Amino acid sequence: MMSESVVFNNKKKFAEGPNFTEKKSYRPETVKESGLAFVGHEISDDGKVMNQLLHYDQLYTIRHGWNSRFFKGLLEGKILGTQCPKCGDKWIPVRTHCWNLDCNLEKTEWIEMPLKAKVHTWTIAGWSGRSSLRRLPIILVYGIVEGSKVAIANELQGINPWDVDFGMPLKIVFKPKEKRIGAVTDFHFEPEDGWKPSQMNKEKERIKKLIQPVYEWVKTLR
Ligand SMILES: [Zn+2]
Repeated sequence: MMSESVVFNNKKKFAEGPNFTEKKSYRPETVKESGLAFVGHEISDDGKVMNQLLHYDQLYTIRHGWNSRFFKGLLEGKILGTQCPKCGDKWIPVRTHCWNLDCNLEKTEWIEMPLKAKVHTWTIAGWSGRSSLRRLPIILVYGIVEGSKVAIANELQGINPWDVDFGMPLKIVFKPKEKRIGAVTDFHFEPEDGWKPSQMNKEKERIKKLIQPVYEWVKTLR
């Protein structure tokens, strides 16, 4: 009969664990035992692996593993996507292996994507978590980064909610370097420079009227 230790020793090890010496802590003074906040991250010495520390009632570690380069890219103000070396398909959000059935799960490679996108679809949020209430109404967009086969969700700013349009051109705007934490909230979408909204129409008027109470309610917040 096999002993427990033998089973343990036979376990296949795929890689050595990374060593983390680059660590950053940004736990806010005010973080309470209940609530949600990113409070730090660590990057391995070889730069390949990033872990994120999330406090949500208690401290969580988000291990990004193979996807780490995307989150490290955000710290540098870059959108890093992946591309299949066989068929050339690109993805943001990243995929580790190609989803094209002909490619038989080919492993993808990292590429820098342009800071341009277009609206695939969107919704207007009239309610949110506590931290974002004052910013309501918030426009949430599924944007297709130029060249990507898939869409990524993020906030659209700098536009009236009723003026959003399918396919409208967007730019990706990053927070200043010192405010970035390596999370998707490091960037947001804005209309491309020079973009002008189409004229008001019945549907736009309808949306504007629906949103009005949200603006009124936000004014009452202290
Ligand atoms: Zn492919």
